[in-house]
Amino acid sequence: MKKILLLALLFWSVSFIAYGQADEPVCKGVEEIAAMEQAAHEGLLDFRSSPFTDNYDIIYQRMEWNVDPNQYYIQGTVTTYFAPTRDGFTAVNFDLSSLLQIDNILYHGAGPLNYNHSGDRLEVILPEMVPVGQIDSVTIIYGGVPPTTGFGSFGTGTHNNSPALWTLSEPYGAKDWWPTKQDLVDKIDSIDVYVRTPAAYRAASNGVLVSEVLNGDKKEYHWQHRHPIAAYLVAIAVTDYAVFSEYVPVENGNPIEVLNYVYPESLNSWQNAIHSTVESMTLYNQLFGLYPFANEKYGHAQFGWGGGMEHQTMTFMGGNSHSLQAHELAHQWFGDKVTCGSWADIWLNEGFATYLEGMTYEHGLGTNTWPNWLRGKIDQVTGQPDGSVFVTDTTSVSRIFSSRLSYSKGALLLHMLRWKLGDAAFFQGIRNYLDAPELAYGYAKTADLQYYLEQASGKDLTEFFDDWFYGQGFPSYHVNWWQVDNTIWVQIDQTTSHASVDFFEMPVPVEFRGVGFDTTMVFDHTYSGQLFSFQAPGVPLLVGFDPELWLCSKNNIVTNSEIVGLAEVLKEQVKAWPNPAREQLNIQLPDAILPVQAVLFDAWGQRLLETTIRNTQNEIDIRSLPAGYYYLKLDSAEGSLALPVVKE
Ligand SMILES: [Zn+2]
Repeated sequence: MKKILLLALLFWSVSFIAYGQADEPVCKGVEEIAAMEQAAHEGLLDFRSSPFTDNYDIIYQRMEWNVDPNQYYIQGTVTTYFAPTRDGFTAVNFDLSSLLQIDNILYHGAGPLNYNHSGDRLEVILPEMVPVGQIDSVTIIYGGVPPTTGFGSFGTGTHNNSPALWTLSEPYGAKDWWPTKQDLVDKIDSIDVYVRTPAAYRAASNGVLVSEVLNGDKKEYHWQHRHPIAAYLVAIAVTDYAVFSEYVPVENGNPIEVLNYVYPESLNSWQNAIHSTVESMTLYNQLFGLYPFANEKYGHAQFGWGGGMEHQTMTFMGGNSHSLQAHELAHQWFGDKVTCGSWADIWLNEGFATYLEGMTYEHGLGTNTWPNWLRGKIDQVTGQPDGSVFVTDTTSVSRIFSSRLSYSKGALLLHMLRWKLGDAAFFQGIRNYLDAPELAYGYAKTADLQYYLEQASGKDLTEFFDDWFYGQGFPSYHVNWWQVDNTIWVQIDQTTSHASVDFFEMPVPVEFRGVGFDTTMVFDHTYSGQLFSFQAPGVPLLVGFDPELWLCSKNNIVTNSEIVGLAEVLKEQVKAWPNPAREQLNIQLPDAILPVQAVLFDAWGQRLLETTIRNTQNEIDIRSLPAGYYYLKLDSAEGSLALPVVKE
């Protein structure tokens, strides 16, 4: 989902306040309220599955809803097919708001069944025990005025004086308007949605529109979806929609329909805008495999909310900007086909959708540019020194959907993985993740993505995820360089913005541009103070840090140590011999530069020895060093110098 503009934020904070209070009568003792809130939070903490509903597999739901956009009200009949996964199954449980009233519960068409309904939990007592694995069903007939939680799980409004009604259940709001199993473990394998509404209106929903039947002054719209779907991705929207379609060409396959339900007064604007989705889907099809619901459709339904929500096969959007279309479309792969397996892993939905939007600019779509988009994300993420992509508090809807951390830092985490692994391994790993039998059309956690990227690249990413997923903050770099003849020396220091990470291991790109050459060197930075060298064809006139914006970093500086290099007259008095050396290196220093900080590096920039020299005549025992090339860096208050050393 994508929240847009201040208006949406305002709406969000208002509804968030309502969230905590919705179930509570006005007059209650403080202790009672505190206990209720605590219980509610316990239910959400680390929410994946609830012990209340985790003893059965939800197989199919048929929802029949009567709604009129003129009324904030729902009447429904929901039939659920289920198969017990544990012994002793004598009741089937659902998440359903206590503010809705149960009218009747039927078993095989007869009833009523007994039930308990309190604390947003509905326990339906079965007439007999159902054995493990046996498919059975119940029908719940209910109605009422739904509460609205989260971002506004059930909403009504008007456009151009016409009434509109919509739902948006993410993350915890499905139970506000229908009985289901609201978890992140068990998708509903398939659904049929029937919406009955006054004949002046159309109803949008998931999957394919099977029929549209006029009955008196009502119309019944039957939508059918034959792919597994998470409860929070089921949705309906009803108003006097105008309808048009576009088609995405598919090589060696049927074109994919992009079906649009839009407000009549907005028809022109949307008809001009939706080609953006055709272009973005063509790009995503190439990069991440064919649109996951190609045998049904993709679509948009306009609704009265500032942002967008990626309801499976039918995104709801307030506006039609390229960025919103690109973001919500991306969710059909990342969020809908593979859904985050806990709200702590929400970045698997939102980080990907944000990054894919950025990639449309990389490929020349939309009006933004790739560097500009990256710069904006880096500036946003590094605007504060702390914060992890991992959601530490899943009771907070505002933290789960933090645009700085779950969206933008999640996107940059992917960008840096791509930089570290290279395009081939990165894209292969992600396609394998999307297609993995245990993940496709199911749920994934961060460790699953890590596994498939490690498999594709052969690299261990434990440290990367420790630093960039669980850890907080970002690095700042100081690149200092100097030149001796044709050799350029580069020392890279790093500080971090938050104590949870003491060092970010990253390949660090630095561009060197001079007369007749322009080269970007990538230094494998494994500790602060690491020294590198390479041969340059001339004198660099411009040295730039991370010119293509691969790193999420800030306050980086580049200095040329020649500015603080030793004066020529002092440099001539520095001597190191013999060179090559076998057992002992003698170092002579002028008195004027003492004390000197001396560091010995090997050819890979590993710091082997560090000492403070206070004398003019010195001997360093090098018997333990393997034969090879080394360099000795000398830092003093008068300036710095690096000496090449060869061990025989
Ligand atoms: Zn999103």
